[in-house]
Amino acid sequence: MQRYSAVSLLRHALSGHKGWGRAWRAPEPKRSYDVVIVGGGGHGLATAFYLAENHGIRNVAVLEKGWIGGGNVGRNTTIVRSNYLLDGNTQFYEFSMQLWEGLSQALNFNVMFSQRGQLVLAHSADQLDAFSHRANIMRLNGIDAEILDRDEVRRLTPYLDFSDTARFPIAGGIFQGRAGTARHDAVAWGYARAADRHGVDIIQGCEVTDFVRDGGRITGVVTTRGTIHAGRVGLAVAGHTSVLGAKAGLDLPIESHVLQAFVTEPLKPLVQHVVAYGADHFYISQSDKGGLVFGGGLDGFNSYAQRGTLAAVRDVAEAAVALMPCISRLRLLRHWGGVMDMTPDASPIISPTPVDGLHLNGGWCYGGFKATPASGWCFAHTLATGEPHPLSAAYTLDRFRTGWTIDEAGAGPYAWLQ
Ligand code: FAD
Repeated sequence: MQRYSAVSLLRHALSGHKGWGRAWRAPEPKRSYDVVIVGGGGHGLATAFYLAENHGIRNVAVLEKGWIGGGNVGRNTTIVRSNYLLDGNTQFYEFSMQLWEGLSQALNFNVMFSQRGQLVLAHSADQLDAFSHRANIMRLNGIDAEILDRDEVRRLTPYLDFSDTARFPIAGGIFQGRAGTARHDAVAWGYARAADRHGVDIIQGCEVTDFVRDGGRITGVVTTRGTIHAGRVGLAVAGHTSVLGAKAGLDLPIESHVLQAFVTEPLKPLVQHVVAYGADHFYISQSDKGGLVFGGGLDGFNSYAQRGTLAAVRDVAEAAVALMPCISRLRLLRHWGGVMDMTPDASPIISPTPVDGLHLNGGWCYGGFKATPASGWCFAHTLATGEPHPLSAAYTLDRFRTGWTIDEAGAGPYAWLQ
């Protein structure tokens, strides 16, 4: 693996950063691979890395229609947490957290994982009671969780509205100290570079438009750069899961919706943790550059556009100012959108499909960034062995037929209301 000494870093800086080598190759697609992964987002790239690293399967291609990091992996608000309640989710997301804790070392790439803690606010005694239930379940599973009363929340977050006229008074909160944020594009680049070093071909500007079939089995993909044959095909296309699923003959229980994110002009350090409003659609953290990074709920109608509406901007701004009146005169620098693949129970799918040769990783809704390491780990296992990994065994496609759903929308940015 390429390493840089302090001297070479200085030389690159003084030469105007013109001499850097490519972080990953730009190969021509081969005619055939053992595994083809469609989608070069966090999940596709992590899957390719763990296929090589954990299973020794290196004849792998990741096909990306745009560029690495152009999808949701580079458009999210980077929150990583493992505060889930339901069996299946609890263990899976905690495993992901443990992988995050060693990810920079595993990839030899600084993903800037910052365990600054996440606080979710409670605005009534009943809500705090529900959070206590969640905290107890987390602790019984060996996951850190604390219940804070109003005064403890105030000590952590004095900038919130604790006045008598606050729209939704703060009663307390649930805090996970190991939660935090990571640098999203570094995650994509780190996995891409590490997968490439194992011999994985990362092919950008290569859109999959159809599938190659031999009888009922999928044996490859048709792309804008020619036909590529594959022993197995894995889909990891996030907001386009239902589109590609339909081309394979699958009618998936997934809808695509837009979620927006926002960043303000930079401030001195103010928000030390990740904070989520428990009464409206709003959550916030502060970036290393000082900008406040925040988001809210979905735009509310189906779309494949990577941009949102002004109505949603207004809703999120209203919630922001209700919780933090001190930021009402701050200027918004940018906002953008990403396309979410929403499942009916808000839980993902890592599963073989009824179509022989085709495996699915999708339905991550608005919470898939934190899942990236565990998702890649488990999907690689599924592709390598044909069997679900024990940690993702509950995320079958079949659950929507059998009724064994994992209904935990309560983990999303706005469903803390439930
Ligand atoms: P993507 O990066 O979208 O990768 C899918 C790739 O597939 C794309 O690059 C796309 O171009 C490619 N593709 C699609 N169709 C084709 C085709 N036909 N051929 C080839 N390639 C194709 N999650 C969290 O855990 N924490 C958060 O704080 C958080 N905040 C979010 C905020 C916003 C505004 C958004 C938009 C999302 C947020 N998420 C968050 C969700 C998270 O970003 C996603 O669940 C996750 O990134 C999806 O997986 P991915 O990284 O593989 O997706």
